[in-house]
Amino acid sequence: MSKFKRILLKLSGESLMGDQGYGIDPDRLESYADEIKVIAKKGVQVAIVVGGGNIFRGLSGATAGFDRVKGDQMGMLATVINSLALSSALNSKGVRASVMTAVRMEPIGTYYDKWKAIDTLEAGGVVICAAGTGNPYFTTDTGSSLRAIELECDVMLKGTRVDGIYTADPEKDPTATRFDEITYDEIYKRNLKVMDLTATAMCKDNKMPIVVFDMDTPGNLTKLMSGEKIGTLVKL
Ligand code: UDP
Repeated sequence: MSKFKRILLKLSGESLMGDQGYGIDPDRLESYADEIKVIAKKGVQVAIVVGGGNIFRGLSGATAGFDRVKGDQMGMLATVINSLALSSALNSKGVRASVMTAVRMEPIGTYYDKWKAIDTLEAGGVVICAAGTGNPYFTTDTGSSLRAIELECDVMLKGTRVDGIYTADPEKDPTATRFDEITYDEIYKRNLKVMDLTATAMCKDNKMPIVVFDMDTPGNLTKLMSGEKIGTLVKL
């Protein structure tokens, strides 16, 4: 039995990039698809939100002179590209996965609808929610919080390269220590860069627990489903 019936998994665009400087690393994509397949076949209902930072970020576009809204729209399209890639990798492994977009763009994806998404999840299909929230000035972290809450997921899992939340950036500060658990308020107080404030606030207001964990270690996702305490749990 899985600890969670329905999860929202957030994968950043950067993690899909692997060791490349840009774009999608096919090996990384395949290994994520393998991980997701294991839990989906065990009956866990999996909704996914993928970022787009490996292709385009609105904020960096704005710094380079792009209009911010157009830049964000480009960023949202980048998340659609990643979502299509992930759905294709899952499909090729025999996992039914459909892309739902926050902005209408049939036939690339179905227009997102909570109940259609839940029907798909309950029928055993993976739902990949693309284009974030559909609005500029938001991030895919906020898109994930929104979808996790809307789709009544048991938990939002933020898959990263790091194995949890630390007192400081462990890639820069060797004295940084990891939290097993932390409250939303503590994240604000310590100004920890886990997710943007909007995303954290939405999860807090709706009591959506978050687990930040290392998605690049094969088997971690399955361990989480069996109730193993890995990563950092964020709760009230
Ligand atoms: N984006 C947006 N609205 C959303 C979600 C994303 O405008 O609801 C844009 C924004 O420009 C962002 C880009 O899409 O920089 C890629 O998303 P994000 O930076 O969250 O990707 P990640 O860091 O997870 O790879």
